[in-house]
Amino acid sequence: MNESFSFRPMRRFKQQLPHQECLDILEKGSSGVLACLGDGGYPYAVPLSYVWDGEKLWFHCARSGHKLDAVRACDKVSFCVVDADDVVPDEYTTYFRSVIVFGRVREITDDAEKRESIIKLAEKYNPAASADYRDKFIDAEWAPLCMLCLTPEHITGKEARELMVKRKERR
Ligand SMILES: Cc1cc2nc3c(=O)[nH]c(=O)nc-3n(C[C@H](O)[C@H](O)[C@H](O)COP(=O)(O)OP(=O)(O)OC[C@H]3O[C@@H](n4cnc5c(N)ncnc54)[C@H](O)[C@@H]3O)c2cc1C
Repeated sequence: MNESFSFRPMRRFKQQLPHQECLDILEKGSSGVLACLGDGGYPYAVPLSYVWDGEKLWFHCARSGHKLDAVRACDKVSFCVVDADDVVPDEYTTYFRSVIVFGRVREITDDAEKRESIIKLAEKYNPAASADYRDKFIDAEWAPLCMLCLTPEHITGKEARELMVKRKERR
């Protein structure tokens, strides 16, 4: 990372989620939006399934496309997971909770790492499947499959003031 760069703090810091809560949201979320530097300098924010293994985020994708070209050209990305979005019409607001991970993405080139990571993803989305069942799917999709790994450099979570108040009351 650029030595002189530091990620900016949250203005409404009281709404900032504790770090462990951010990790819990990453653990339980089913999708998020990966933001990368896309064609022509336009940000490309693309929804993706993912798995969080406690340290890193893993994604699967095709071996070509806008997203892959983007991360090959610039490995700096962010990934946002929305945990709550409860619209409250009378208050013209939403009771939200979300996490943003900034970091670097790399394409997995090693077959063993590719298999290990697709198994993590498969186990998250179909935990009841047998290893046999899972492996047949993986083998059938192996050739066109590409795995990406996002190593976090900065993780923040934020929630609506109302949710923050409720959380404090529960303590
Ligand atoms: C909840 C959810 C989970 C998903 N999970 C995965 C996943 O785990 N792996 C995966 O590979 N894909 C997943 N997708 C599909 C993903 O969003 C992309 O469509 C896909 O990855 C292809 O991306 P690409 O950049 O290679 O597409 P390309 O076809 O190369 O993109 C070309 C253009 O198509 C448009 N485009 C592409 N995708 C979308 C989109 N989703 N919505 C609107 N416009 C789009 C954009 O304008 C883009 O510039 C998921 C989508 C959703 C909504």
